[in-house]
Amino acid sequence: MTPSQATAPPASLSDDTPTLLVKIFGRDRPGITAGLFETLAPYAVDVVDIEQLVTRGRITLCALVTSPGGGTAEGELRATVHSWAEAVGMEAEIISGTGDNRPRGTGRSHVTVLGHPLTAGSTAAIAAGITGTGANIDRIFRLAKYPVTAVEFDVSGTATETLRTVLAQEAARHGVDVAVVASGLARRAQRLVVMDVDSTLIQDEVIELFAEHADCAGQVAEVTARAMRGELDFEQSLHARVELLAGLDVSVVEQVRKAVRLTPGARTLVRTLKRLGFQVGVVSGGFTQVTDALQAELGLDFASANTLEVVDGKLTGRVTGEVVDRAGKARLLRRFASEAGVPLAQTVAIGDGANDLDMLNAAGLGVAFNAKPVVREAAHTAVNVPFLDTVLYLLGITRDEVEAADIAE
Ligand SMILES: [Mg+2]
Repeated sequence: MTPSQATAPPASLSDDTPTLLVKIFGRDRPGITAGLFETLAPYAVDVVDIEQLVTRGRITLCALVTSPGGGTAEGELRATVHSWAEAVGMEAEIISGTGDNRPRGTGRSHVTVLGHPLTAGSTAAIAAGITGTGANIDRIFRLAKYPVTAVEFDVSGTATETLRTVLAQEAARHGVDVAVVASGLARRAQRLVVMDVDSTLIQDEVIELFAEHADCAGQVAEVTARAMRGELDFEQSLHARVELLAGLDVSVVEQVRKAVRLTPGARTLVRTLKRLGFQVGVVSGGFTQVTDALQAELGLDFASANTLEVVDGKLTGRVTGEVVDRAGKARLLRRFASEAGVPLAQTVAIGDGANDLDMLNAAGLGVAFNAKPVVREAAHTAVNVPFLDTVLYLLGITRDEVEAADIAE
């Protein structure tokens, strides 16, 4: 830009400036976009807005341009565009109007819908739910087709909380997952993700893997289930279950580590977040004997859990140090955020159990992952498909971006 251009006042477009919406539709091929603007160029019109998308080889190109002024010039422009379109086998529509697009309403949100599959019926219900609140759907696009179909609706005109409440009901009724997050810089600035471990990052409950070696699997599983439903105080239940492991040989730790199965999509989630510059941590009511190995394997920035006490090569049935319970998990989220230099509002927490609830509520975005009903209902958003990488879609990251990054590596 030359200095004289830099100091020139910006071209202004008032509400009554005549403008033309030029819409081109047809089979996509190289040169269509250049061709349209080359056709418009001799009329010295200014480009106000452009949107283009290609769906299964069909291009839709919309250009909002200033009118060339005067009935004759506009008539010529129309005739030229139509004859160009005919020559390249496209349909063209030109609509006269004034000014720019109508400004988007206040109260802007991203509504992400995850379906497995995504049916026309559930899409209709979500779209009707959005417009029923008085909101406007400004834009819709696909984020992913694998491992689920994920579509994002950009919406304006209604408070995020209102949309969340209405769409949560529609989601439950139609068996899809819907996440509603406020639009704005905060979404782009999310920089720390903290996950629960048992039944979130991994498919197992680690204490149950230990219990299989102590012949008390049934007892432990029952206490775990009650604690995760919120029926038992977590700390009491932890001590009660760990006691049942007293006397186990420490060699069991290695066997348990080997038995742990990561949740599908866990590696993709962590790898992609790290590439984007996120810090990633885990907090677990389970044990450092397992989370330390996961931290090393996945390159996690933070990890905290309880530690099983070992004396003379045997588990004592006690844990050492500060117990990581429901309040402890939220405390650790705050500590990790502070160490990472990330405001709490820019954190994401993911978990499935009642002991994750304080952490999910303290985070900027709390995601209930295949969670117990008590957790699902209280969290900002819920994912009920068994793929951890779908959390990326809630952050607006597309499958294409994930795969392109994998290929580039
Ligand atoms: Mg869990």
